[in-house]
Amino acid sequence: MRNLKAEVVRNAAKLKGWDVILRDLCPEIDSRAFDKPGRHTKCPVHGVAGRGGDGFKFFRKDFQDSGGGMCNTCGTYPDGFSLLMWVKNYGFADAVADVGDFLGIRSTEDENQQEKVNRANEQALAARRKELEEKEAASNLYHSKKLNELWKGSLPLTHPDAEPARLYLASRKILCWDREGVERVVRFHPSLSSYNEDGEFEGDFPGIVAKVTKAGLPITLHRYFLTPKGLKAPVQSAKKMCMYPTDRLVTGGGIFVGAWDKEEIDVCEGLETAWAIETGTNFAVQVHSLVNATLLEGFEPGPRTKRVRIWIDKDRSGRGEEAGMNLKKRLWEKGIQAQILTPSLPLLEGEKSVDWNDVLVQLGCMGFPQMRRAA
Ligand SMILES: [Zn+2]
Repeated sequence: MRNLKAEVVRNAAKLKGWDVILRDLCPEIDSRAFDKPGRHTKCPVHGVAGRGGDGFKFFRKDFQDSGGGMCNTCGTYPDGFSLLMWVKNYGFADAVADVGDFLGIRSTEDENQQEKVNRANEQALAARRKELEEKEAASNLYHSKKLNELWKGSLPLTHPDAEPARLYLASRKILCWDREGVERVVRFHPSLSSYNEDGEFEGDFPGIVAKVTKAGLPITLHRYFLTPKGLKAPVQSAKKMCMYPTDRLVTGGGIFVGAWDKEEIDVCEGLETAWAIETGTNFAVQVHSLVNATLLEGFEPGPRTKRVRIWIDKDRSGRGEEAGMNLKKRLWEKGIQAQILTPSLPLLEGEKSVDWNDVLVQLGCMGFPQMRRAA
């Protein structure tokens, strides 16, 4: 039935557990996402697990209660209804009707009956919520401790032992690891443990760790797994964000070397891209890496920012351009000037994407616009 009371269906869904409901209603979602909320799987909408471990996951924190999840590329869906609307490409009333139907709420009579059931179970639901909160608090403490340990074990990129990081960056023609302020944000780690999406140990590798912050506050660390000779490590995903406490939100965050709240700033997706633009413009600009398309789209400029240059990736999927356009639109609405800069290279047959790092490797400084050095 259409026009059911959303709250009645929502509470009934919590009682049943969104995991049970969505598993049945969404066969297009990889079952491994249900087996372990928080695990990345192939996105049910945009189809491929893209670069840098992009993909879909349910919220680790409260999936059973909320039904929420996110795709690094497509966006965030805070509850089961919004998730269904996204996966099925239909409206809110359809999502409520679908869930109602699955739960046997199909008429006004069913609805009244369910309201009574919901009320009778209020205490049980509250108890479950409390149990979840306690578990979450313990896990948050664990993750924040792990992040601190990892950072403490890191070295500046200029340290003699950080050769794998420098070899990797040099292979991408990037030469700004010794830039002022880098050591406070991007560092080398001699031994990072890599686990694949199934939680299987893949080995310990040297790598780069980058602090992801939001408005100056640390959120998590982004890791780049390398070999001792500076190649990408032979793992499922060579770039991975660390797990972080659920009371922190990564949206709006990024890898900010230097002041993030300036009148004029430059942003892009990947760290290599950011540093390639700096190298390619002969250090006329300082570029902040927002890690991936979703974070780029969600970027929040500081109160002083008046102009933003968005250096986008050109992807086969069009996602990089879309994220850039969405950010540009949002910035203009805030009264901030925004400009998009697209890599000056064609996307060739068989290539998934080109970014400004490819421009630097193939064209050198010639591939970059002439930039005046900021005062
Ligand atoms: Zn997606």
